[in-house]
Amino acid sequence: MKQFQYTRAQTQQSALEAIAKPGTKIIAGGTNLIDLMKRGVTAPDKLVDITHLPLKNISTTKTGIHIGALALNSAVSENSLVLEKQPLLSMALKAGASPQLRNMATVGGNMMQRTRCTYFYDTTMPCNKRAPGSGCGAMEGINRMHAIFGASDKCIAVNPSDMSVGLAALDAVAIIAGKKGERRIPFTEFHRLPGEHPELDNHLAAGEMITGIEIPDNNFAKNSYYLKVRDRQSYAFALVSVAAALDISNGTIKNARLAMGGVAHKPWRLFDAEKSLIGKPATEESFKQAAQIAMQGAKGYQYNSFKLKLAPATITEALKHAAGLV
Ligand SMILES: Cc1cc2nc3c(=O)[nH]c(=O)nc-3n(C[C@H](O)[C@H](O)[C@H](O)COP(=O)(O)OP(=O)(O)OC[C@H]3O[C@@H](n4cnc5c(N)ncnc54)[C@H](O)[C@@H]3O)c2cc1C
Repeated sequence: MKQFQYTRAQTQQSALEAIAKPGTKIIAGGTNLIDLMKRGVTAPDKLVDITHLPLKNISTTKTGIHIGALALNSAVSENSLVLEKQPLLSMALKAGASPQLRNMATVGGNMMQRTRCTYFYDTTMPCNKRAPGSGCGAMEGINRMHAIFGASDKCIAVNPSDMSVGLAALDAVAIIAGKKGERRIPFTEFHRLPGEHPELDNHLAAGEMITGIEIPDNNFAKNSYYLKVRDRQSYAFALVSVAAALDISNGTIKNARLAMGGVAHKPWRLFDAEKSLIGKPATEESFKQAAQIAMQGAKGYQYNSFKLKLAPATITEALKHAAGLV
């Protein structure tokens, strides 16, 4: 591993000044960044530890819940406000990693974690995300875990975060600090599709940091569910995951939110499928129809075409759980 400098930021201002310098990276829980440094995928000159900044708070606002960027994944998933108002987020977090990792991992770090594509991690292989212009090893390689939506001819990697799928479904907003002050990005627009620039995972600009997220109040707490399909029951990334949230009144769906993980370079929100559910009875038939709509535009590769069947089945099953049918 390349030698690097380490400093601990005492204030948000000093953290922003430090990360304005090229070659400098934030470190929070370190559970992704240190792995990437050990493997030579990334080699920063300097790390700025932000874990002593006061960004761990979870509190109510006039319109929802605010969660600081340094709140631990374990703390968020067990928080009473989150469990009461946004249980879907708790379910998504508990589906990720392991208890030990969730005890170190932060909200900001989870949003920024990099793909688990094996070609990205293997520095002997081509990867446009790690080394722009080198090619994509996965396109003709072992692409079982890869995207079926929104891929480009440069990259078919997927975003590995479970938490981000829940937050995309819940209309969360990312709060960003930079030299010019604060800005807010709707969660569905925080992560990017690969297009011509797969090296960019999201719309955070150089010199900016995440300070928190906000989740607006909603009527989904009673009928929401996170379903993750993976090779092992724990400690495995999603083949397909679905965050489903319904607002049901007298058996009729008044409102719906759906997002998928493990299928695209960003959490994949299913806007058309959501719309199709509104006004329909909360039945398996309605859910199957929505799942078919959700699959429009999906494309499989040599080893991941099974996702074309797995994804709609997972959507249907997640909606059945959310509606209390199973
Ligand atoms: C074995 C293993 C299994 C895992 N399984 C899962 C899983 O199933 N599901 C899942 O969702 N995740 C999983 N993870 C990933 C884990 O959730 C992430 O590693 C973790 O969330 C990253 O958070 P961190 O605080 O440790 O980030 P770090 O490793 O400290 O940082 C990650 C990146 O985020 C940047 N960063 C951190 N904080 C900020 C901020 N506030 N603003 C801007 N940039 C920031 C850093 O510069 C770095 O680039 C797994 C990890 C491991 C090692």
